[in-house]
Amino acid sequence: MTKRSVLDIIYPPRCVFCREFLREGEREVCPECVRELPWTYGRCRVPVTNCDACVAPLEYRDAASEALLRFKFAGRTTYARCFARLMAECLRGHTDMDFDLVTWVPLAPVRYAKRGYSQSKLLASALARELGLPKARLLAKKLDTQKQSGMSGAAARRANVSGAFSPVGSGAQGKKILLVDDVVTTGATLSECALVLRLAGAAKVTAAALCTAHKSNRRTGRE
Ligand SMILES: [Zn+2]
Repeated sequence: MTKRSVLDIIYPPRCVFCREFLREGEREVCPECVRELPWTYGRCRVPVTNCDACVAPLEYRDAASEALLRFKFAGRTTYARCFARLMAECLRGHTDMDFDLVTWVPLAPVRYAKRGYSQSKLLASALARELGLPKARLLAKKLDTQKQSGMSGAAARRANVSGAFSPVGSGAQGKKILLVDDVVTTGATLSECALVLRLAGAAKVTAAALCTAHKSNRRTGRE
């Protein structure tokens, strides 16, 4: 008996999104969630500048946002593999897949110390493994900006992150970079990070997140 199968008896695997027990042969996401999750079926519609494309497989609502919150704040770090698989599928369907390396949107050191892990770095590591690419730390957060989630207005969010990131080393020079974050809200953070990478010499930046906010969804509740 393998270690995995013993663990499966003690802790039967549950669906990452709805937490129902999985049946034999099911992998990470139950068939109901495969049907019902708020898939974007395409590109992130939040405008992200300085990037060739920005993709996210899921809208930030319902079981998708609940799973992401468990990943970020409740220590469910093992979700990274499932999330990365969904992001990789989305990238394959909606980009040219021409990347040299994977990097991520960094947390401020004080927030990292508090949480103990960086959700974007975990996603970037899992995605790099999934795609067979190297990963590199290319960005640092200079300031502990106000939490974006507590701010209203795109202009306020842009101002909040302007100048907040700096390049690390010269690894961006001439590279086609896949930039990873957990959720695209207004696109301000990803746009700023992509700008810093471009100024550091990146040939191309493509952004990928697990979830994206969708304005018309907030208004109508549906696409
Ligand atoms: Zn499920």
